[in-house]
Amino acid sequence: NKKVLFQKIPTAYPVIGEHIAVEHSEFNLDAPLLSGEFILKTLVLSVDPYMRGRMRDVSIESYAPAFVVGQPIDGYAVAIVEKSNSSVYKVGDYLYGMGDFVNYAKMSEAEAKARGMEVRPDIPTSGLPITNYVGVLGMPGATAYFGLEQVGKPKAGETIYISAASGAVGQLVGQLAKTQGLRVVGSAGSDEKVAHLKNTGFDAAFNYKTEDTDAKLTEYCPDGVDIYFDNVGGVMLETTINHMNNYGRIVACGAISQYNTSFEESYGVRNLVQMVGKRLRFEGYIILDHPDFDGPFRERMAKILLDGKFKYLEDVVDGIENAPEALLDVLHGKNFGKKVVHVADA
Ligand code: NDP
Repeated sequence: NKKVLFQKIPTAYPVIGEHIAVEHSEFNLDAPLLSGEFILKTLVLSVDPYMRGRMRDVSIESYAPAFVVGQPIDGYAVAIVEKSNSSVYKVGDYLYGMGDFVNYAKMSEAEAKARGMEVRPDIPTSGLPITNYVGVLGMPGATAYFGLEQVGKPKAGETIYISAASGAVGQLVGQLAKTQGLRVVGSAGSDEKVAHLKNTGFDAAFNYKTEDTDAKLTEYCPDGVDIYFDNVGGVMLETTINHMNNYGRIVACGAISQYNTSFEESYGVRNLVQMVGKRLRFEGYIILDHPDFDGPFRERMAKILLDGKFKYLEDVVDGIENAPEALLDVLHGKNFGKKVVHVADA
């Protein structure tokens, strides 16, 4: 049984072997189960930027609990019940929820409930890849949909600009916005990612590492930016504020450029005064606050995917032992699409 352990709180980018590491241990699949207990086999695991925020001191409160030093990290997962002495979780059931980064786990019904583990009969029958359930049909998908609709409040004819646009959230925001008649502009960190954005219907896209963001926003958003879907914060946010139209909306989805820096080193956005003159709305949200949104969103998105209307790119890596590197890839921008760890087949 392999486990991905949290070892030490990082002060900058985490390092494999120092802050996060893989450990092997014995797991007896044949050990007797108490009433209500069952064994889960992990199938896929999601690695997401917010996990960096969980690598903090447990005394610091936030919307997601801190990882505990010496314990496995956890995250969104799909798993299958391998053995069971529970009448709720039966052998062969597919579960979605917060799973430990382990191959196998013994669990009680109470623990499964606390982890938000739900039996999901739709997973094996939908005809969609299981990896989709931690991406476009999971938390990042809902984040894109909710952020665009409820926070961005898009109107046909408007211009939206999306940073980290080829990622789990960004690529979906762009395609959703396109179906609503917006001009869609995105940026990403490589030419390959930019080509993918154009291929998925973005009106324009640029590589923010090799091209000047200010010049590109002037060129690609000639009528200004009505909605900025902000995934990165920092200097990108500052530059984009200069291009916002009056009454524009900034969807504060994430600020990944600031996740690995100390408070002292974080980027101080200098032009917030424009929030007043341009009557801008800058609104943060956390998708975990909206669990009711999940079911209806999922049904709608599954239909869209089955119709073949969206191109949702996943970057799937095999083997739980590669999960630490997968997480670091996301933090360093090495992922190309939604990063998912395929652990095992059912
Ligand atoms: P992605 O799949 O987009 O992966 C992260 C990407 O961020 C990288 O691929 C990289 O793309 C970019 N990036 C990394 N470092 C930097 C940097 N220093 N400056 C600029 N870009 C950088 O991740 P997600 O789609 O899962 O998440 C996107 C954002 O949404 C994150 O900020 C995340 O925290 C946030 N989020 C918020 C939620 C909420 O409820 N509010 C829920 C889920 C996610 P590139 O090569 O283009 O630089």
